Amino acid sequence: MGRWGWRLFECDQDLDAVFNLTHELGIDIDSWEYSLSSMVHQTDMLVPPEAIAMYNTPAYAYQLANHIIPYIREKLDTDNLGEQLFAACRAKENDTDDISREPKYQTIILGALMMRCGARINAAGMEHLRDIVPQVVCSPRWTPFTDLSFRTPGKAQFLAALDHYEPGVPRSFQEPSCFTCGKIEADLGRKPLKCKRCKVATYCGKDCQTEQWNEHRPSCVPPHRRRVTNV
Ligand SMILES: [Zn+2]
Ligand SMILES: [Zn+2]
Repeated sequence: MGRWGWRLFECDQDLDAVFNLTHELGIDIDSWEYSLSSMVHQTDMLVPPEAIAMYNTPAYAYQLANHIIPYIREKLDTDNLGEQLFAACRAKENDTDDISREPKYQTIILGALMMRCGARINAAGMEHLRDIVPQVVCSPRWTPFTDLSFRTPGKAQFLAALDHYEPGVPRSFQEPSCFTCGKIEADLGRKPLKCKRCKVATYCGKDCQTEQWNEHRPSCVPPHRRRVTNV
């Protein structure tokens, strides 16, 4: 298990959850679930450099936006498959047999995937997602045994997504988002700005940067002094 960032899908735990979700829910979805992961695996630092280079090409961006994402949305929206998955995931939220995972966070990951492709989520589903966010542990950085769900910027990203989501409009979790309020370019009307020192964290403005500074300070390392990525 590894984490190489703070936001959603910036750790292999989140990416593993994408695979586990569909298998464990036991819903027959054939082989297209691999495409679920193709919507979010661009952050995977364990893939070869050629794959990372490919993710950065315009041809790949086109394929993702115009083929992969609409394909998954249609799958989830047909015969309410998305809602069935969501219900099956909710039904497992109180399973505590496996202490290496947080079941409510699996529902959150499913909600994020549904928003990633612009799938329908009904009002009760959105309300449920809002309700469970405060129920999962959220830490600013690695903590032994409890690092099973959000880090702070990932939680902010998810809450901003819930506030701004419109079914039919895919919500990206890979593009820059404010580490404090979670907003992306579409919410702000302009791109968030990079922290001048580390060039990793992004903020919508001075107020959000100041608010998060004490938390961000230990990991705010200039690129030439950075020795590890998993902070
Ligand atoms: Zn902000
Ligand atoms: Zn910084």
